[in-house]
Amino acid sequence: MNTQTLSEKSFRLSVVVPAFNEQDVLPEFHRRLSAVLDEVCAQGHVSAEIVYVNDGSVDESANVLTDLRDADARVAIIDLSRNFGKEIAMTAGLDHAHGDAVVVIDADLQDPPELIPEMILHWQTGYDVVYAQRTSRAGESAFKKATAHLFYRLMQRLSRVHIPPDTGDYRLLSRRAVTALAGLREQHRFMKGLFAWIGYPQKAIPYARDARYGGETKWGYIGLWNFAIDGITSFSTFPLKVATYLGLVAALGAFIFGLFIFLQTLLFGNPVPGYPSLLVVVLFLGGIQLMALGIIGEYLGRMFDETKGRPLYLVKEYVPDQQEKESAEQ
Ligand code: UDP
Ligand code: MG
Repeated sequence: MNTQTLSEKSFRLSVVVPAFNEQDVLPEFHRRLSAVLDEVCAQGHVSAEIVYVNDGSVDESANVLTDLRDADARVAIIDLSRNFGKEIAMTAGLDHAHGDAVVVIDADLQDPPELIPEMILHWQTGYDVVYAQRTSRAGESAFKKATAHLFYRLMQRLSRVHIPPDTGDYRLLSRRAVTALAGLREQHRFMKGLFAWIGYPQKAIPYARDARYGGETKWGYIGLWNFAIDGITSFSTFPLKVATYLGLVAALGAFIFGLFIFLQTLLFGNPVPGYPSLLVVVLFLGGIQLMALGIIGEYLGRMFDETKGRPLYLVKEYVPDQQEKESAEQ
């Protein structure tokens, strides 16, 4: 970690931390993050704020955050009115961050805060998005790793935006990138896709992903499945085309089959067999139709959610950090 070479230009750094039921890890997380920020800020021309987003935690997280705020003037707290999910909690944090550079990081210490100085260095050389790319993932099952791998490869095939594989949400964004993201207000927020969609110069830095420090992951397999469907339907209309082509193939097959039966009847007469083949065809077509309807339904449901035009989240309470508080009072 080399912070000596940071450029002399002064800037403000925001760190956005979504947290949902993280009472066990928050103090240790804050300790490690503070150590890194102290080192960065020691150079005098950097000021930092840490924006904790309490995503409707039902444990003691809210109190833990208040304690952190009392002890550290850099802490800002956004208390959401209920649990909105990580993607929206992150968005709330980005909306309230004031920094010239904004880092998004998980609270569970799976993303090592020690990478931040390196991210800043790359940002200062002109990158808008500096994302951490996993070279390993400790503490996760082989099945989860395999499905994650498959999902990223599939997304790459299906979508025009390039979503870097093995990349979480841990990254640094320039002010320009944060403003661009703030313009994307869709309800189904597949953040990895949105980060990629904005484009701008992007840079990967490799790191080894640690296991959770404490508590447990909020992602079950059903959650991950829905996450994958959100990703695909938000960034590709290819499944809609699959329905069309499946229909075409089925119709063509039926036509050829019909021709075959017609000729067979002409040549050999019709002794009324064929009940099984009939049933097979009927079931096959029924299945394809239901599947196509289901795919359309996935997109239609998302359109329904978007047309309601609801706000993404509601804030119960926002406590700015000391510096913002003072500048607001003036
Ligand atoms: N998180 C959140 N809202 C949620 C679920 C998770 O803000 O509804 C936060 C959580 O506190 C953590 C981060 O998102 O800081 C990542 O969550 P988790 O570790 O459960 O996900 P994983 O690392 O397993 O992908
Ligand atoms: Mg985690």
